[in-house]
Amino acid sequence: MIYTGGTIGMKENPCSHALEPVDFNHLLDNVPKLKMLDFDISSFQFEHPIDSSAMTPSHWADIARVIEENYEAYDGFVVLHGTDTMAYTASALSFMLENLNKPVIITGSQLPIGEVRTDGEENLITALQIAAAKDRTGSQMVREVAILFENYLWRGNRSTKRSADNFNAFKSNNYPELAKIGLGITFNREALWRAKNSRAPLKVHYEMDCNVIFLDLFPGIREESVRHMLSMPGIKGIVMKTFGAGNGPNDQWFIDAIKETVERGVVVVNITQCNNGSVHPFRYVTGLELANAGVVSGHDLTAEAAITKLMYLLGKGMTPEEVRNYMEYSLCGEMTS
Ligand code: ASP
Repeated sequence: MIYTGGTIGMKENPCSHALEPVDFNHLLDNVPKLKMLDFDISSFQFEHPIDSSAMTPSHWADIARVIEENYEAYDGFVVLHGTDTMAYTASALSFMLENLNKPVIITGSQLPIGEVRTDGEENLITALQIAAAKDRTGSQMVREVAILFENYLWRGNRSTKRSADNFNAFKSNNYPELAKIGLGITFNREALWRAKNSRAPLKVHYEMDCNVIFLDLFPGIREESVRHMLSMPGIKGIVMKTFGAGNGPNDQWFIDAIKETVERGVVVVNITQCNNGSVHPFRYVTGLELANAGVVSGHDLTAEAAITKLMYLLGKGMTPEEVRNYMEYSLCGEMTS
């Protein structure tokens, strides 16, 4: 169990009344039921538990390092994390932990664990049970990074935070649940990730390149704004959030600006602003023009998976051409391609 912070372990500050992260013992004291579980749990906590809005790639590396250093000694890992950037962390870890063959279950809560109606206790216990779950052959049931929240287990790199208020705060809009949580835990076996070569050793990639941005389109977006973003110094990758099946404005300045950016060696990835569905670059002429300008289709990638995948591929020092190729190909179940 790796505690990074988040609402699950927070307490109200008596002066400001705002929630702030506190240490792990507070969290454990509030879950005496942990002693009733029939497996051994060890815990590790970040030196300074944080609100997940403060997460950075160096925190992702810290989590990955704990997993790497303890990989052989444990059957599975539960990461306690704030909900705000949980889907980014889950996506990033799925790429950073190459050949992962054990469960990394990320969970947190909407209400602090010390509150009477908390969802934290149930989420924590269920996440631990899933991390410990075995199939009939005695192998780990889950062998990927996943998010457990309230009634569902979702693939991490397919998940998005969909509610700031509901207990069912996460959803995977383009992929079925990995498990349903009710009276029991029912795994959706066909949906679970199975590596082609399950014997390949875990390989952790720590370098994430942050020279990436989102470009979120809207009708009326100004040429100056677009050109300003596209020409930011050092920029190497852009995730462009487009309309519907991957369409953008058909103004010549827009197509030219994108084309010039691609020609400069910047990777531009097209994902849809829709919650559900995929980019189809050849369905409309507006999408086709973007494809002709050298924009890569991100298919049905979530925004979180698209940006972290770009950071990961660029972090490996790949050429723009290589990054473009890998962006269109599923590495660990993050897209339907
Ligand atoms: N702001 C909190 C965080 O992400 C929200 C939460 O945990 O639900 O750390």
